[in-house]
Amino acid sequence: MRIYIGNSPMKIPMCPPPPVYRNEQWIPLTSLEDMQETDYDVLIVGSGAGGGAVLWRLMNQIGGSGKRIGIVERGGLLLPTHAQNIATMNGERFDKYFSSAAAIPPRYPSPQIYALGGRTLFWATVSPRMHAADLASWPVPLKEMDIYYGIAEKVMSVTQNFTKRASLTQILLNRLQKDGFPDATDEPLAINLESINQYGVVNSNPYFSSLVFFAQALNSPFDLAVNARAVEVLTEKDRVVGVKVMSPEKKSYFLKAKKVVLSASTFGTTQILLNSGLRNSAIGHYMTIHSRVFGKGIANRNEFPEALGPLHILIPGTEDRSYQIQIWGPGAYPTVQYQVEPLKREWEISFYASGRVESRFGNQVTLHPFKRDEYGVPEIQIDFSFNEQDEAVIRQMGEGVKRAAKAMGTPLVSKDGQPPICLWRPGMELHEMGTCRMGEDPSDSSTDRYGQVYGVQGLYVADNSVIPTSGTANPTLTTVALAIRTADHIIRQLK
Ligand SMILES: Cc1cc2nc3c(=O)[nH]c(=O)nc-3n(C[C@H](O)[C@H](O)[C@H](O)COP(=O)(O)OP(=O)(O)OC[C@H]3O[C@@H](n4cnc5c(N)ncnc54)[C@H](O)[C@@H]3O)c2cc1C
Repeated sequence: MRIYIGNSPMKIPMCPPPPVYRNEQWIPLTSLEDMQETDYDVLIVGSGAGGGAVLWRLMNQIGGSGKRIGIVERGGLLLPTHAQNIATMNGERFDKYFSSAAAIPPRYPSPQIYALGGRTLFWATVSPRMHAADLASWPVPLKEMDIYYGIAEKVMSVTQNFTKRASLTQILLNRLQKDGFPDATDEPLAINLESINQYGVVNSNPYFSSLVFFAQALNSPFDLAVNARAVEVLTEKDRVVGVKVMSPEKKSYFLKAKKVVLSASTFGTTQILLNSGLRNSAIGHYMTIHSRVFGKGIANRNEFPEALGPLHILIPGTEDRSYQIQIWGPGAYPTVQYQVEPLKREWEISFYASGRVESRFGNQVTLHPFKRDEYGVPEIQIDFSFNEQDEAVIRQMGEGVKRAAKAMGTPLVSKDGQPPICLWRPGMELHEMGTCRMGEDPSDSSTDRYGQVYGVQGLYVADNSVIPTSGTANPTLTTVALAIRTADHIIRQLK
């Protein structure tokens, strides 16, 4: 082959060679040095469900308007998509990968993910709304919750169609509806079932993560720094002025901002607020979770058509039913892509029941009086226990799981030393909420109805910690709905 230097003999000029880049990432990053030089209109801390939703809404509504938006994330670039979208994943590998990527708070078994995307890189995408009876005591009118739930469901591609053609789900759903659970339904999941999106582009992200928020936000410029841990909120005369951020080398940066949104998760946000000396009467208190009763059932293969399909059923919580039940299976089926499963006579079915837990002042996150982490930030201490009312709900849940298994004809069984029904330790359900809860009364709430921290102008919280009461529904859809609403409020303030 001849290589032509200069013009080709065909008298057509040679095309320039492609540019060569080094150290580029799959998402544009900004250094903390550069961020320190900018006066941000809004600075977001944390890139999971809440932080991603705020960023998306801001960029979607005021991107390109000249407002300067920045976001800092404590972790690095662990994954460029939800872990389920990775071709080599199966159920077992997923669990192991999640476990090895997670950080566990002292003496509380609730794994946290410090990485761009936060826990949404691994979440199970179950996205029910809170029941109206639970929302009734919240400071946000039901009509508004309805609107923001609608926006959240749309952007997260929440659907009940995932199991519409799955015979196992439909047959078991039918049995439940006939026998005591008329409101049992296909589970709402944040999984985008369109293989080609509205732009004619192949969708490589069926399982939703907050990285989808980032992808859409990238239509306008914003600054993102990873490996950037916020340690303190900076205030002047009861007004936020910025955030102190540290790099893994323990270098400090002072980022200036008119509005700061803390979306560092229930524990992360509380730790930052307390470490900043910002203590109103509720910050850190009223922590709530869902109690979780787990049951294992068995489905007899012979009772179903050849192709079982995935099983995802939700028995929702109601005013009278203080728990919801998620029913999954068969085996690890919903979480495999290419794995060939052997023929089996019996398949395992999992029941995950989530119970309402009372919000109590004494269930709390505080700072350890002397233990500090490698950044010099006091470690958090988590004090949580169930009360009698919670225990009554746990007993009802146990009965509910038994009734559901009976109605489905899938008897509960003991396996590998695990009883047919057991109670998970608090934390294992991964649903901590409430430590910065929103409410009308500053004496028992940390933020107002828009997530603005009482006593500090311009400081907002948008993550699971603002959820006022546990309800029974998985929290993330609600967090995203509230975060979008907070972003809308901030946009109005910026105008
Ligand atoms: C395996 C698994 C399955 C789940 N399944 C479901 C489900 O099916 N349905 C559901 O509703 N929920 C589910 N969840 C819970 C769900 O992931 C959380 O409700 C949701 O991600 C919480 O959003 P968040 O914004 O509060 O926190 P996160 O999404 O965890 O985001 C917090 C972010 O803040 C960052 N951060 C923390 N501290 C700092 C700091 N100091 N400075 C800068 N950044 C910081 C973190 O690194 C992280 O990126 C599941 C979670 C897991 C792990």
